[in-house]
Amino acid sequence: MKLNIVCIPGDGIGPEIVAEAKKVLNKVANLYGHEINYRDVLLGGASIDVHGVPLTDETIQAAKEADAVLMGSIGGDAATSPWYQLPPNLRPEAGLLGIRKALNLFANLRPAVLYEELSDACPLRKDISEAGFDMLIMRELTGGLYFGERYTTEENGIRKAVDTLVYNENEIRRIAKKGFDIALKRRRKVTSVDKANVLDSSRLWRKVVEEVALDYPEVTLEHMLVDNCAMQLVKDPAQFDVILTENMFGDILSDEASMVTGSIGMLASASLNDTKFGLYEPSHGSAPDIAGKDAANPIATILSAAMMLKYSFDLDQEAAAIESAVKKVLEKGYRTGDIMSKGCRRVGCKEMGDLLADEIK
Ligand code: NAD
Repeated sequence: MKLNIVCIPGDGIGPEIVAEAKKVLNKVANLYGHEINYRDVLLGGASIDVHGVPLTDETIQAAKEADAVLMGSIGGDAATSPWYQLPPNLRPEAGLLGIRKALNLFANLRPAVLYEELSDACPLRKDISEAGFDMLIMRELTGGLYFGERYTTEENGIRKAVDTLVYNENEIRRIAKKGFDIALKRRRKVTSVDKANVLDSSRLWRKVVEEVALDYPEVTLEHMLVDNCAMQLVKDPAQFDVILTENMFGDILSDEASMVTGSIGMLASASLNDTKFGLYEPSHGSAPDIAGKDAANPIATILSAAMMLKYSFDLDQEAAAIESAVKKVLEKGYRTGDIMSKGCRRVGCKEMGDLLADEIK
């Protein structure tokens, strides 16, 4: 298979972790007989330095022509970087928001996996963390409260602010379909999270999700209120497979889920549109404090590349090969600084990439 991948190394540790992801992808491509064409483009601070803007038409066009985008991370240290002297619309993060919008990426996927070997980093009680967990939060990204009409006014001397939460059935249907499709590639369970006991938008969400579920008889659907979900994530995270939810609930729950893993350098993410196209990136930022020191953990980016193989190319076996290499390297006791624990061997970003590539046989 031919894979056309646009890479955005970005800023900070971005170029280092993307290089290791390419190393692992190349090994997979060699082994399984695929051909990968990479095209590197600029975004964020790296683009500001060359073009004066964080996102160019050229980058958007290259991404649109590709099958998928693999990104490191963008941004710098806000206190010291000259990028943050610029007006907000010209800062690195504006580039990221701009490309997500230009590519119509409405579905955000964040897996939260607790590896047995890293269970010490999990802040939950041992009897809960022992069971391990492997869930995926599927968040609607382009609608809801963050995109509705908002204004602040004053009535009779009293200040008042209004934010509007709007969803139409098409927006709900397309994300629900994505959620069920992805559940088919996992343990076939969808937990749809809403606040249907209070909100009209949630009641419509629930109805449309139930309609979509009729087309997926192999998938078990359950509904959960968002407040209960926030509790269940720390009480019994092993119960979840795919959590399907709207924008603001997903924003909060995905941060909660990732924090219970305790390992920011391990967390992948993907943003998808209604084709097979996706933008894949680690959940963490550009870690300017360790940039250029060969100290970054490349695993989140490498697992994002595995998600790319699975969701954009349907190469499930190849994705599984990467995921199992990660488990094996952890089992053998290799750790980057961020996940280091007693008795393990500390390795740098490059060596971690080498170990993972070697483990794919
Ligand atoms: P951060 O995630 O970059 O770093 C937080 C802490 O985690 C730091 O101590 C860092 O060293 C550590 N860390 C992060 N990733 C690591 C890895 N792979 N290996 C080892 N340690 C790792 O968050 P921040 O410091 O708040 O943000 C830094 C910059 O990143 C900011 O400019 C921010 O806007 C940007 N950012 C970008 C994205 C993105 O590109 N999607 C996401 C979040 C933050």
